[in-house]
Amino acid sequence: MSEWRRTLDDLARDGLLRKPVTVEGRQGPRVRVDGADYVCLCSNNYLGLADHPALAEAAKAAVERYGTGSGASRLVSGTMSAHRELEHAIARHKRAEAALVFPTGYMANVGTISAVVGRGDTVYCDRLDHASIFDGVRLSGATLRLYPHRDTEALGRLLGRKRKGRALVVTDTVFSMDGDITPLPALVDACERFDALLMIDEAHATGVLGEHGGGAEEHFDIAPGRIPIVMGTLSKAVGSMGGYVAGSADLIGLLVNKARSFIYTTSPPPAVCAASLAGLGVIANEPGRRRTLWERARQLQDGLRELGFDIGPTETPITPVIVGRPADATALSAKLFDAGILAPAIRPPTVPRGTARLRLTPMATHTPEDIDAVLDALGRAG
Ligand code: PMP
Repeated sequence: MSEWRRTLDDLARDGLLRKPVTVEGRQGPRVRVDGADYVCLCSNNYLGLADHPALAEAAKAAVERYGTGSGASRLVSGTMSAHRELEHAIARHKRAEAALVFPTGYMANVGTISAVVGRGDTVYCDRLDHASIFDGVRLSGATLRLYPHRDTEALGRLLGRKRKGRALVVTDTVFSMDGDITPLPALVDACERFDALLMIDEAHATGVLGEHGGGAEEHFDIAPGRIPIVMGTLSKAVGSMGGYVAGSADLIGLLVNKARSFIYTTSPPPAVCAASLAGLGVIANEPGRRRTLWERARQLQDGLRELGFDIGPTETPITPVIVGRPADATALSAKLFDAGILAPAIRPPTVPRGTARLRLTPMATHTPEDIDAVLDALGRAG
């Protein structure tokens, strides 16, 4: 038996083997899998923009104008007007001096952290931060210090210790698997008090939090420029693909010169940037979508609490249904699938051991009847 086979068998024995389902058509509120339709309750397409006609039209027009591939990395000939227009729009959206687009949010985190800190520096992370943040810290060679989830007092104690080198604090603003929000104002204060750089990951906040969808900074009314490094993704509520960093012109200049995941890779296709730009436009012009998303989330979460499910401390549309053991999460997911609902199990190492779950994410394009159907199926699955 090969070593690879043994690894796969071990994962299967522990209920941790993963296999993707194949979606055969659009990423909408319902998706087609194996020729049948399912209510899709697991995507990050929060506002339903991944199949919005304005984004599709923008992408088509960009293909006509630019062709498909960008052909080179950003610092060679791969910076096109589409990239620049998108970066200007992101800087406006985030009220920052400048912004930079990466091919993915994962690459934005890895490239940015490894550009701003290195050996001899210390990075302080919330223990539930996203994997791409930890990978960036590893790549940087800096020392990693974890602080307990959302515990700014514990962070303050760590920051108060004597240290050599720079200090960087990195946190998700909306935690991807639990849906709770970091106490950002206290975090900003702690970083200013202890002279630490702060970097926030707005992946699940962009387009979802704040009156204009500006994310956690807008939600907490934090003055522009107070958080030096603001990272986010265009692949969730924005309905497209790519990562971004917004901040001072100096920060962006540094990343252009030092972020390896920006420099040593082909730039994103211009049509993808055009779709992102259109997505930001819809976020600005259709605030009703955000309101509907929150209404569907409230319906789902109230219903789940009434049914007695443990949905953790969520404060956003991200709705965990925590069941504990991987096998139980997989069984619950299978029952939902039989009832026409797509919600794969989320298991360790994506979430801590003992907290396997379903991660339900309503969308602005779900109907109240879709949510009722989900609650009905979960009520029966128990
Ligand atoms: N940060 C967080 C908090 C995320 O949830 C994700 C995606 N799951 C990323 C970064 C990576 O973004 P992308 O999918 O655009 O690579």
